[in-house]
Amino acid sequence: YADAAMYKAKEEGRSNYQFYSYELTEMAMERVVIQTNLREAIRNHEFSLLYQQQVKADTLEHIGLEALIRWNHKEFGVVSADKFISIAEESGLIIEIDQWVMRTAMDQIARWYHEGLNPGILSLNLSLRQLRSEHFIDVLKNCMQESGFEPKWLELEITEKQMMHNPEEFISRLQELSNMGIEIAMDDFGTGYTSLAYLKRLPVKKLKIDQSFVKNIPEVKEDVVIVEAMLALAGALNIDTIAEGVESKEELEFLRDHNCTYVQGYYVGKPMSAEEISAKLS
Ligand code: C2E
Ligand code: MG
Ligand code: MG
Ligand code: MG
Repeated sequence: YADAAMYKAKEEGRSNYQFYSYELTEMAMERVVIQTNLREAIRNHEFSLLYQQQVKADTLEHIGLEALIRWNHKEFGVVSADKFISIAEESGLIIEIDQWVMRTAMDQIARWYHEGLNPGILSLNLSLRQLRSEHFIDVLKNCMQESGFEPKWLELEITEKQMMHNPEEFISRLQELSNMGIEIAMDDFGTGYTSLAYLKRLPVKKLKIDQSFVKNIPEVKEDVVIVEAMLALAGALNIDTIAEGVESKEELEFLRDHNCTYVQGYYVGKPMSAEEISAKLS
């Protein structure tokens, strides 16, 4: 279909209008194609998980792993999470996908613990749709029980935008998770609009400072000021911080000097396969 549309657009001329409408069509079609293929992906074992290390900002000591999904499609190749997670959320397929992630990551982490390795805390990205679903807590408990995974090993990351969509709705659910010993982290902090009142009321243990702020420190003054303010706020509220997307020594040093608790990013380690992580932890 995409080829046919491109051919048609070319035939009809190359005016800006044509080009613009072609781009839109292509985007819409890409979404449809992805959505159609996603339905098959779980059954065909096309997903895999990578794990990215999280470390203490001062000592670089390993504290945990964030699981990041990848889709290995036979024709498209490796599709990054950015490309398909929002589509999976729209269609509701995210619930099934995230349950696969939960099960697979918990099995892996529990196996590492039972082998005597120390993978630390497992961070899972959680879609709002999953959190909202009626059976979520049961599914979670079931997964933990089946893999011998302890709640204190788990952290759930929810993006600031999703959490702030309707915070009142989630306070009790997040509290329930927190009471089970599971930590809650606010992902992509700084890209949504958290009211300070909610930071106090939500059982959030950790703020993940969005990589868009991290990447321009220490060069861009505005980003420096914003990151300093976020770290100071979190410190004053006794909430831990983790900077994501740390790619350089300068960024790491700045964050460490401003009391950021943890860091994560290519400078410390890229997302890696379970085999690579095994080797690192051994
Ligand atoms: P996120 O949770 O904020 O994850 C951070 C993203 O930044 C990941 O992209 C990671 O690969 C990338 N990253 C890590 N370090 C660096 C760095 O130093 N520099 C740069 N430029 N990037 C870095 P990825 O894996 O494509 O994931 C994108 C987003 O998709 C995630 O953002 C998360 O919101 C979502 N996601 C990923 N896996 C899952 C999943 O299993 N379930 C759900 N619901 N969402 C997921
Ligand atoms: Mg995350
Ligand atoms: Mg993030
Ligand atoms: Mg930089």
